[in-house]
Amino acid sequence: MTELKLTNTLGGKLEPFEPMEQGHVRMYTCGLTVYNRGHIGNFRTFVSQDVLRRFLQYKGLRVTQVMNFTDVDDKTIKGAREAGMPLRDYTQQFIDLFYEDCDSLNIQRAEHYPRATDQEYLDAMVELVQKLEKNGHTYTSDGSIYFKVNSLPDYGKLSKIDVEGMQDGARVDSDEYEKENARDFVLWKGPKEGEDSWDTAIGPGRPGWHLECSAMGMKLLGETFDLHAGGIDLIFPHHENEIAQSEGATGKPFARHWMHTEFLIVEGEKMSKSKGNFFTVNELVKEGYSPMAIRYLLLSVYYRQQLNFTREGIEQAATAIRRVDDLLDRLSAVDKDGEPSETTTMTVETALGEFEDAMDDDLNTSKALASLFDLVRGGNTALTSSSMTKGDAEAFRDGIERMNTVFGVFGRSEKVSLDAEVEALIEERRKARSERDFARSDAIRDELIAKGIVLEDTPAGTRWRRK
Ligand code: AMP
Ligand code: ZN
Repeated sequence: MTELKLTNTLGGKLEPFEPMEQGHVRMYTCGLTVYNRGHIGNFRTFVSQDVLRRFLQYKGLRVTQVMNFTDVDDKTIKGAREAGMPLRDYTQQFIDLFYEDCDSLNIQRAEHYPRATDQEYLDAMVELVQKLEKNGHTYTSDGSIYFKVNSLPDYGKLSKIDVEGMQDGARVDSDEYEKENARDFVLWKGPKEGEDSWDTAIGPGRPGWHLECSAMGMKLLGETFDLHAGGIDLIFPHHENEIAQSEGATGKPFARHWMHTEFLIVEGEKMSKSKGNFFTVNELVKEGYSPMAIRYLLLSVYYRQQLNFTREGIEQAATAIRRVDDLLDRLSAVDKDGEPSETTTMTVETALGEFEDAMDDDLNTSKALASLFDLVRGGNTALTSSSMTKGDAEAFRDGIERMNTVFGVFGRSEKVSLDAEVEALIEERRKARSERDFARSDAIRDELIAKGIVLEDTPAGTRWRRK
C-alpha cells in the first residue's frame, strides 16, 4: 500500500500523514454545538471524519479520537434560557439525538466525547488561562480575560490572516466573528445577568468557545497530537484561536495536521441552522429516504469539494447502493464448488489497489467508489457466465466487503428495510386485532412466519424475532 497523504490546512500542502507514535493516531474532531439537532451539513463533516477514522483502521492503525460537545457558548446559553431549562438538561437532549443520528448513519463511536461543562475540563480550561497569564498573553477588562493577539508572533498562521494593522486593544466578546475582524478574543467571560457562571481560581464566569477545545484536546490527547479537524468555517477564528491558546501556553506545536471539510450547500448557500435551509437525518428518513443513502451521498464527494444537496442526489445514492447489494445477494447464491479463477483474483486485486491509492491520495472517496464499481461490473460480468464458482463469488464479496469497512454503506439496507416492514405489519396486526378482524390478524402472522419472523404477544406489546 502506498502512503497516506492528506492536505494540511496549516501550510496548505498535500503531505504524508504519519502519527507521532508508531501505529497510533490521536485525532480531535470539533463536535456539535448542542443547541439543536445536528443537520446533514454537520454530518457531512462528521461522516468525513468517520471515513478517515475507518481508513486509518483499514491501514492497521489504532485510532484515539476525541469529539467534543460544545455545551456552553453564546448559542446554548440563549437556547436554554428561552426553553427555561438548566443548561445541562437542555443540551443533553441534543446529545442524545446526536448519538441516534450517528447510529443511523453508521458512524463509529469516538473514544471520547467530552462535554465542556464537565468539571475536569472546566478545571483544565482554568489551568490553561493561568499558564497564558503567566506567559504574558492575557489582559483583563471589565471582568473578562482576553488573549492578546499581538503577543504571539505567528498568530494567523493557519488562516493566513494579516494582523499587521490591528488596532491595539481592539477586542471581541462573541464566540463567532468574521475574518475581517481579527481582534483580541475572549478566553474567560465575566459573569452576566442570566448566564451560567462558575466560581474559579481565575474569577467567576464561563469559558469562551475556543478555550474549550484547546483544553479538552490537550487534556485527552497530549500537548501535541496528530490531527485536528472540522468544517472549513472553523479555520477562523476557532482553530486559529485554539492554536494561539495552546501554543501560547505550552510553547509546543499543538496539532501537527489540520483537516477541513468543505460545506454541504443548498441552492448555492451553506446549509446552516441560522439560514433555515437545513434538513436533519430523521426528517429525510420520514420522507422515506434510507439513512444509508444519506451517508452514501455525504461521502461520495471528495471532502475538499463543496457538495450540493438535492433529493435526486439521495435517490441516485439509493440506486447505487441497491446495485451493490443486489450483486452481494446474487454472489451469496452461487453454489458451484471451485477455487477463484486467475481473472477473478486479478480483477479484485486491481480494484483494491486502485481503491487504496485513491484513499491514500487525500481520501479521494469519489475515485475510491469508482474502483468499487469496477469490481461490481467485474462481478456482474462474471455472474453472466455460468462458470462462476463459490471461490470466485467469495473473492468478489471479499473485495467489496473490505472496501465497505471504510464506506460502511453496503449490505445494510436489506436489514433496515426488513425491520421497517416488520414494524409496519405488526402495527397493522395490532389495529386488525383491536377491530376484532382476526382473519386479517392471522394472515399477517402467517405472512411474517413466511419471512422467518416469529411474533410473541406479551402484556407490554408484541415482540418479534428471527426464526
Ligand atoms: P457547529 O454545531 O456549528 O459547531 O458545527 C459542527 C460541525 O459541523 C463543525 O465542524 C462545522 O464546521 C460543521 N458544519 C456546519 N455546517 C456545515 C455544512 N453546511 N457543511 C459541512 N460542515 C458543516
Ligand atoms: Zn472546537
